Amino acid sequence: MSLQVQSQVSLKPFNSFGVDVQARLFAEAHSDADVREALAYGLEHKVPVLVIGGGSNLLLTADIDSLVLRMATRGIRVLSDDADKVVIEAEAGEPWHPFVQHTLALGLSGLENLSLIPGTVGAAPMQNIGAYGVEIKDVFAGLTALDRHTGELRDFSLAECNFAYRDSLFKQEPGRWVILRVRFALDRAAHLHLEYGPVRQRLTEQGIEHPTASDVSQAICSIRNEKLPDPAVLGNAGSFFKNPLVSAALAARLKGEYPDLVAYEQPGGQMKLAAGWLIERAGWKGFREADAGVHKLQALVLVNYGSATGLQLLDLAQRIQKDISERFHVDLEMEPNRY
Ligand code: FAD
Ligand code: NAP
Repeated sequence: MSLQVQSQVSLKPFNSFGVDVQARLFAEAHSDADVREALAYGLEHKVPVLVIGGGSNLLLTADIDSLVLRMATRGIRVLSDDADKVVIEAEAGEPWHPFVQHTLALGLSGLENLSLIPGTVGAAPMQNIGAYGVEIKDVFAGLTALDRHTGELRDFSLAECNFAYRDSLFKQEPGRWVILRVRFALDRAAHLHLEYGPVRQRLTEQGIEHPTASDVSQAICSIRNEKLPDPAVLGNAGSFFKNPLVSAALAARLKGEYPDLVAYEQPGGQMKLAAGWLIERAGWKGFREADAGVHKLQALVLVNYGSATGLQLLDLAQRIQKDISERFHVDLEMEPNRY
């Protein structure tokens, strides 16, 4: 028995919104055996088990009547190295950004655009994390998960994960899979993605004409640090809404009315609208009621100024959804996982 199960634990330090709710039971998994032991404990005591990582994509709206299992497994290993491609595996509990930095220090390219995303390696496939034109599906080489229905381990290939924009099989089948470790195929030669947002401009400002993957990572960190609130200082869960995909006809109609609408064409003819633009245009940027608010610099980010509850944040999010739907006929979908 290595699993330490505690009763009535505040989850405030374990969610980046800093919402103060209690977990009925709480434990940390440091090995696969701990994960199995926690699941067995849940069955034996008839208590559900909720697996979390860094808590950076959660909205906790009430006390959690479950055993909350925080993944704290560690370990990074190179599985193969054929001069061009290196396959590297990390345990689910490895913090994401230090893992990205580790790959860059090994001279590997592929994860640089995903720098400074909070959370853990194990949660990264859940919503196919993405930023600045790269998603983990682009460098994904497989993962191992525990099937809670059968207790068996299963290896997933890229095709089996159903990755899509902020989505995956693991999100579609909530509570079924515990992701234990994830593999990435990274390049020795850098194939950089610089065309998204202000990345190239930032490098040019820094006088860097021929960037390395580490240069791109540093540029992205500096852009993110300027634009996004640090959860250690101001509670938030990053983007609160997904960017909506709408028909080309609706996008064209909106563009007629709002010439500065931010919209990007998607494969298949749909248009992706910048949800942050819609929310800002509707006047919500900087809005605050009690301790729940919309960030001053980035309207897509809801913030907790101190003691906001999950329900207050949810209420604000729902008011924004209603307003955006009435003004623009666009439905916004919430991104964080709600419990
Ligand atoms: P958690 O929030 O702990 O969990 C998220 C979900 O995954 C939950 O449903 C949980 O049950 C499940 N889960 C966690 N670990 C496992 C596991 N091992 N097995 C099975 N299920 C699991 N996201 C982006 O995509 N791109 C960004 O650029 C980005 N920027 C962000 C910036 C900020 C400031 C913040 C606060 C968040 C940002 N996010 C971004 C969202 C978030 O960081 C990512 O979704 C991240 O992958 C969540 O990891 P986590 O370990 O914190 O997961
Ligand atoms: P931004 O650069 O101000 O861009 C606004 C939006 O336009 C983004 O949401 C992005 O969509 C889209 N966009 C920009 N350039 C694009 C291009 N060339 N082609 C297609 N779409 C384009 O965005 P930001 O808020 O500062 O965030 C920068 C990146 O980090 C984005 O990729 C964003 O998704 C990611 N991020 C995610 C979270 C999160 O919690 N999920 C939090 C912070 C930042 P996409 O979002 O689809 O990329």
